[in-house]
Formats: sequence, C-alpha cells, structure tokens
Amino acid sequence: MRDPVTTVRPDPASPDSPALKADRADDAFNVLIVGVGGQGVIMVSKVLALLAQSQGFEVKQSEVHGMAKRGGSVFSHVRFGKRVWSPTIPKGDVDILVALEWAEGLRWLPFLKAGTGIFICDTKRIVPPFACLNRRPGAPLRYSKETPTEVVTHVGEAYAIDATDMAEKLGNERAANVVLLGALSTALEFSTTDWERTVAEFVPKKTVAVNLEAFRRGRGWIEEARNTTPAVEAPVTRTPTPADAAYRVRLEINPVWCKSCDICVKMCPEHCLRLNADRIAELAEPERCTGCRLCEWLCPDFAIRVHLDSAGAVAQQGLAQ
Ligand code: SF4
Ligand code: SF4
Repeated sequence: MRDPVTTVRPDPASPDSPALKADRADDAFNVLIVGVGGQGVIMVSKVLALLAQSQGFEVKQSEVHGMAKRGGSVFSHVRFGKRVWSPTIPKGDVDILVALEWAEGLRWLPFLKAGTGIFICDTKRIVPPFACLNRRPGAPLRYSKETPTEVVTHVGEAYAIDATDMAEKLGNERAANVVLLGALSTALEFSTTDWERTVAEFVPKKTVAVNLEAFRRGRGWIEEARNTTPAVEAPVTRTPTPADAAYRVRLEINPVWCKSCDICVKMCPEHCLRLNADRIAELAEPERCTGCRLCEWLCPDFAIRVHLDSAGAVAQQGLAQ
C-alpha cells in the first residue's frame, strides 16, 4: 500500500532545482542521511558519494555511527560539487534530507534548507527502550506524535514512504535503505544506469536482484506520488491498543539473520527469551511474553518480528485447524 504525503516539487529544469545546482554553481550540494544503527545509513551515503565522484564531482563525506549496534543515532553528511571545502553541512544548508527512521527524520529537519529543501523519510518507527512508559502493548510512548501530513505543512517538499513495508514485500526488509536510495535518485540528475551500477557494486552479490528491484520501487513510488493528488494521511504503523479486541502474541525469529548478539535476551523485560543450543534467540516462556516489541525494536539484525493477532483471527485459525 502506498501512503503518499507529498507536496509539489520544483520543476527539475528550473534554475532553482537542487538537482542542477551542483553542476552550475561553486556551492556544494548537500545531502544528509540519518537513521539508527543497523539500517544501512552508511551504505546509502557511500553509494551516493561514489556515484558523485564517478561523475567528476569533488566529494566529501563524514559520518557518525558509534552507536550502531545499540540502535543509536547514525548520520552521514555527503557534499559534492566543483569544490567542497568542508565535510560537514551547516544547519539550514541541507538540500536533501533522507531519513531511514521517522523520529530521526523529524529530529534533523532543522538542518533542511528553508523553502527548497527536500525531505524523504521512511515511516518506519524504531522506538528506543527509554521511550516505553509501560510494557503492555498499546501503552503510551515518549515518541514523536507528529503525523506525515502535519510534517508536510512545515516542509517545502516532503515524501513519507513506507519503505520498510515495500522492502518486506520484496522479501528483504534490509533493502529499505535501497528503496530510499531509489527515492533520492529522482532528485538528482545522475542516470538510472549509473545509479543501478553503483548499487550493484555495493550490495552482496546474492542480493543484487532484490536490491535493484527495491531501488526501482523507491524511484517509481516518488514518480507516481508526483502524479497523484497529495495529502492522503500516511499511516504510521499502529500498535494495537488494549481497547482493541484481545490479542495473542506470536514471535517470528529468523534464525538466518540472528547473529547471537544476546541483546534481545538481556533487554526483554519479562526474561522470556534465551539463546538455544545453536545460539539462536528463541522464546523460552511464551506465556510471559507481553508483546511489548522491545526485542523487535532492539534487534540490530531485524531478526525478530512480533505479531499481535486479534482474538477473532486466532479463533478463526482454531476453527480452521
Ligand atoms: S534475535 Fe537479534 S537481538 Fe536477539 S540474539 Fe539474535 S541478533 Fe541479537
Ligand atoms: S519476548 Fe519481546 S515482545 Fe515478548 S516480552 Fe520480551 S521483549 Fe517483549
């Protein structure tokens, strides 16, 4: 499902178009990529930097990713142009802000250039543990309440994309960053062939096909969004609330992606996870699991999914069995 929140973008042929600016002015063109550890922020910035360099631009890149394994904030500045003097982008000078996580995107919005800056953001929410006020599903969170529509009213041009959902439907949630690369590609004048060649150079060989498809979906999503009447509210993934029908918690743990880091085991407030004999996470005491989703949010390898099945669905499954 597409959840478009867009505003009219400048004509790419306009002298004000950021896509043309790096080519015609001495000013650097500034892209800021943000997210949390494990989402692939650095990969996005490296692809962009390499591509810009291959097109003859001078490129400077700087990044902070010290908290990568703990779901901490990660950001990378990429600047390119005829001459680039500094690797960091001053506040208010970002031409394009690409965010792989919703709250991180909002946090960095003040860096966007007023009026002409473009905001491209995944609606994926990764809620830090300290934001959980209560462990029960649906409990209030200390997390951004702004909806994509509200954000758009403050930004000249914005796209809120459920990139994670798009990547999941392709069979690889980790390709969400490449969906966003595809979206970013529509705002820069590098050829699609060059973009795809650079993406293919960066990703593992066995995932080239899925990543190229993710890139095309992201690109296609923006192109379609530009031709669609905007302002349909984008749903930020909603957690069932206690007011909903009773639910049953089901944990899906991908043993291939689990790297045995033990984070989920240590952080589960109910102590119901453990590493099995193969050092893969497993739900040892399902009856204690509250479905709080901390393990899903904290797993740096996206190996856990928490499903909250409604009682109705569970009853129907029971009847069908
Ligand atoms: S499921 Fe994730 S958090 Fe848990 S041990 Fe495996 S990699 Fe670590
Ligand atoms: S297993 Fe995951 S969802 Fe269940 S209580 Fe522990 S952290 Fe929460």
